[in-house]
Amino acid sequence: MKILVPVKRVVDYNIKVRVKSDGTGVETAGLKMSMNPFDEITVEEAVRLREKGAATEVIAVSIGVQQAQDTLRTALAMGADRAILVLSEESPEPLAVAKILKALVEREKPELVFLGKQAIDDDMNATGQMLAGLLGWPQGTFASKVELVDGRLEVAREIDGGTETVSLTLPAIVTADLRLNEPRYASLPNIMKAKKKPMETLQADDLGVDTTRRLTTVSVSEPPTRKAGVKLNSVAELVEKLRNEAKVI
Ligand code: AMP
Repeated sequence: MKILVPVKRVVDYNIKVRVKSDGTGVETAGLKMSMNPFDEITVEEAVRLREKGAATEVIAVSIGVQQAQDTLRTALAMGADRAILVLSEESPEPLAVAKILKALVEREKPELVFLGKQAIDDDMNATGQMLAGLLGWPQGTFASKVELVDGRLEVAREIDGGTETVSLTLPAIVTADLRLNEPRYASLPNIMKAKKKPMETLQADDLGVDTTRRLTTVSVSEPPTRKAGVKLNSVAELVEKLRNEAKVI
């Protein structure tokens, strides 16, 4: 089983982003960028499947600016076998990414495309589902466990109030939730080895894909700042405030 793992370069999850003064997006200049955390989980799971002998090759792919090659090097250091960088704008919209991935699927013929459930920059939670739609493949989204059983993929999905297990025929699309695994840190020797692993660079146009934007950002604004709380001395005072100030009882 060959696995394609799309990894997105996003602002590091530890960074508190600020909205640009013109309200067109968030400031990214000079900020630390890292692999989308859900994609670290998919790289980890794909590498584990290869280590167990269930997968033969793990190919990491990123669609974005030249610097996304650093994200791909991280995937290679974690154990991916080779990488493909498709040059495009900084944060292409999900439909463009899904179309590019579809073109790569037709070229690479993987049996599994393993995506994160969402990219933490724009929280779309759409690319995997769109790709499944474009390819007509079965999908197991929000995976918390993935197992290859008799040539089918059993995916435990996190749903409201519990877990649902689906059994997918291959080829398939899976998107990972947070509890699937704890990704490894790349060791120094593996970071060094990753420098020698193959990385191919393509232009979105080479794949014959129309990536014209269909979404327009109308405005981006900071969430309202929370008011400070107050300490009350008695239940009677609380009831009085709920009744006369908040007017909820
Ligand atoms: P989204 O639908 O944007 O929330 O992203 C869901 C998943 O799609 C991510 O976790 C990645 O696996 C993949 N993805 C989205 N955008 C990109 C990109 N530009 N390059 C590579 N993978 C991406």
